[in-house]
Amino acid sequence: MERQRLASAQDDQVTAPILPLSYFTPGLLALRLSTRGFELDTSGHEWRIHLWRLANCRHCLPSQAVRQRITRQGVGISGLNIGLAARTLVNDLEDYPHAFVLGCIADRRAHADIAWSIPGAIREAAGDFEFETLAELPESVWSSVLETSGHPLATKMKRLLPAAIRFIAHRYDGDAARIWATGSSGIAVARRFLAFDGVGPKIANMAANILIREFGIELARPMPDIAVDTHVLRVFVRLGLLRRLDHSQQRSTDEKQKLRVQLRARELSPDWPGELDWPTWHIGREWCHARRERECGECRMGTVCPSSRIT
Ligand code: SF4
Repeated sequence: MERQRLASAQDDQVTAPILPLSYFTPGLLALRLSTRGFELDTSGHEWRIHLWRLANCRHCLPSQAVRQRITRQGVGISGLNIGLAARTLVNDLEDYPHAFVLGCIADRRAHADIAWSIPGAIREAAGDFEFETLAELPESVWSSVLETSGHPLATKMKRLLPAAIRFIAHRYDGDAARIWATGSSGIAVARRFLAFDGVGPKIANMAANILIREFGIELARPMPDIAVDTHVLRVFVRLGLLRRLDHSQQRSTDEKQKLRVQLRARELSPDWPGELDWPTWHIGREWCHARRERECGECRMGTVCPSSRIT
């Protein structure tokens, strides 16, 4: 695993943050938590620290210096299991920033590997990935790529992806990197993503969070919100970070819960709510399954989670 290789990198040192008092909420557990040079009698804030540790763990997520190096090697966005050429393309913000934008738009209701493979498949069909080429690409090429992509929303994507290219041409003069231009705030970047047809709050926040976390793009405050999906919602509830709304008879409970996750993340991590995005998503995808038996013994939260099934 690339991430494990990173563990040996000398420049991958993580420094524990000084936690503001707002993190010290009344507790569920009393644990002694030892981290590198960081020992605490905890009551409730261990959640924040564990999530922080997972978000910053050198085995899970590399430091910015390492991130820049691996991005150059075409490894950048975490958790993708796609071919090197396709992966390099979506990580090449310098030459092909529009590839990243198309990957984000496609990352909806589909397995991430399928979504993020699409820019590479388009390049194969088009011959190159220059912006001008895509702007002139016949509808038939978009259609043939998407129809064979395995994307469950292929019919929608046939319309949304070329529309995104037209939007970049019109709004950003063909340079998608202007979306995250120097000096932009995190929420401004999310807002700009939200302007694309087919992009909702989840994808908009996800895109801004990936730019900060995976590519080391420095965005100003205010920082983006957490991108809430079913993994994140489930893990927040199981970790005890959010109560269920079992009493509610409303059909909109799920939507309301997603909004509550967003607000809760702002409470827990006011400087950057989206910081909690990747660790909770990762826990949900890897161990805290919705339908399959959850793997609490493997989960990094296993020893502190109130829903843990470790006996
Ligand atoms: S310990 Fe178990 S229930 Fe808790 S987050 Fe991990 S997998 Fe889910």
